[in-house]
Amino acid sequence: MSGKPEGNLAGTALKEEDMKDKNLLKEEWNEPGLSYTWSTGVAIGTYLEGLKKGKLLGVRCRSCNRIMVPPRLFCEECFKTIDEFVPVQDTGKINTFAICYIRTDASRQKRPQIPAVVELDGASKGMGILHLLGEVKPADVKIGMKVKAVWKPARERKGDITDIRYFKPWEPEPKPAGKATAKAAAAKPKAASAEPKPKSGPKPKGKGA
Ligand SMILES: [Zn+2]
Repeated sequence: MSGKPEGNLAGTALKEEDMKDKNLLKEEWNEPGLSYTWSTGVAIGTYLEGLKKGKLLGVRCRSCNRIMVPPRLFCEECFKTIDEFVPVQDTGKINTFAICYIRTDASRQKRPQIPAVVELDGASKGMGILHLLGEVKPADVKIGMKVKAVWKPARERKGDITDIRYFKPWEPEPKPAGKATAKAAAAKPKAASAEPKPKSGPKPKGKGA
């Protein structure tokens, strides 16, 4: 766990020791002998730091108010610079999916992988991330199905999209009985109107007297 302050927009500088230990995304050329590394940058770097902490982060455009995920540094609709990171939920719904019996190297696999675009709760409509589905039979996957991230334990996370193992089918837990009843009562206009409400209450407010 790094002791870096949260919401640091300065990004993460590349370190000499990480270059030596090859902890960075690296490309090496033999002729001439050159090596290149990349910083993940502010937007994706902050996103990856969030994953290490078990959080999914998006960004909010102060102009159109859209919450976008994965984070980016400008809004492609208003061309405004973005500087606000906001947490989104690790739950969402399936926007689209595929059932893959072939790996990226074209070899066959018996148990298919199910990549899916998951629209995350708390992000704007249509905003989602590509990940894998798990704990579900291919035939049972439906567009619009609710899913939740299955995270690796904190000690195994390293700031990688694979810090989430996969998304699994999920239903929101029913609210505790007391709250649910109160909400249901509030939602019923009949119940609300049955309560006698003084229109101009003589209650002294006590403020500014
Ligand atoms: Zn915008």
